[in-house]
Amino acid sequence: GPAPAPGAQVEAALRPDLRGRTAYGAPQLDVAVQLNTNESSYPVPDEVVADVLARLGEDLAGLNRYPDREFVGLRKALVDYLELQSGTRLRPEQVWAGNGSNEVLQHLVLAFGGAGRTALGFTPAYSMHPIIVETLGTRWVDGQRDAESFDLEVGSAVEQVRASDPDLVFLCSPNNPTGTALPFESIEAVLAAAPRAIVVVDEAYAEFARPGTPSALALLEHHERLVVTRTMSKAFTLAGARLGYLTAHPSLVDALRLVRLPYHLSTPTQAVAEVALAHAPRLLSTVEAIKEQRDRLVTELAEMGLRPVPSDANFVLFGGLADAPATWQALLDAGVLVRDVGIPGHLRVTAGTPEETTAFLTALRSLLPQHL
Ligand code: PMP
Repeated sequence: GPAPAPGAQVEAALRPDLRGRTAYGAPQLDVAVQLNTNESSYPVPDEVVADVLARLGEDLAGLNRYPDREFVGLRKALVDYLELQSGTRLRPEQVWAGNGSNEVLQHLVLAFGGAGRTALGFTPAYSMHPIIVETLGTRWVDGQRDAESFDLEVGSAVEQVRASDPDLVFLCSPNNPTGTALPFESIEAVLAAAPRAIVVVDEAYAEFARPGTPSALALLEHHERLVVTRTMSKAFTLAGARLGYLTAHPSLVDALRLVRLPYHLSTPTQAVAEVALAHAPRLLSTVEAIKEQRDRLVTELAEMGLRPVPSDANFVLFGGLADAPATWQALLDAGVLVRDVGIPGHLRVTAGTPEETTAFLTALRSLLPQHL
């Protein structure tokens, strides 16, 4: 018979639930102003680069050996950092790390999800949550946030948790892509409404929260089923290093050792993260400047007649566009890359340097009012 079409044998062999899916990923385009993935616009400072190079110089000859499987030095450095940043003192046995918080989220689903299990999240939220869940054969329940304000009212959250009886719940605070943080009340109400679920609070953007916004880290001592995930990709200006982490009860952290691949954190990854954490105040010194640009985006977008959502993160979601994909393309044509997160009439923009923020606002202003 005729030769099969190229790729047909692979397609037939692929897990049926993966067929027809498209891979996650924002476009990585070579554009002057890149405000689409909530990275930091600030490069790693020279003195940190110098210290990383010195440390790698010591470590590289030892690459014939596997890395420290339990990343003991890194755990201690993360404990010290979290105390500095949040005031909560944890123990190294309460800390777990991976190649980005995406990997620690995957470890959580490997350990607590799987076939026959259910995970609940509240959309719109971080789009990798359902992808990680479903690619591991876990059922995803697409809970909803308020369609107008994007808030998650505590009563609504409790009702949705009770209706789905989940094994895992994903909360995102500050929430990506909408920007706002959750009060303690909501997190504790979800824990109470789902009496056997592991409740994950994704705090990738915690360092950018507005004053008075508490971190769920302070709740850990009272809740064995609570997990708080964080990352060095955003406030720490280290997206390329791939280092994310979580904090939880020691028994939960211990369980993650069952599902990780041995030696999952390379020696260079551990070294870069440890050196960076030793420079935490220097690396975080750009956070205030980024928050200023975030607040400026909210103010100026509102002045333009658009509808920005209040933000505790390093980005702003705004509505009021007639055709978001058309505006996205027009901004790109003007050399500014932002994110179309698929919410009709809305785009998301990362707070960059003052110059980048100006470039974005100027480009957008020149497109209005046709795009309103
Ligand atoms: N959680 C949220 C809410 C995010 O927005 C992101 C990055 N876009 C991540 C987790 C993952 O980041 P990383 O794997 O770089 O730590």
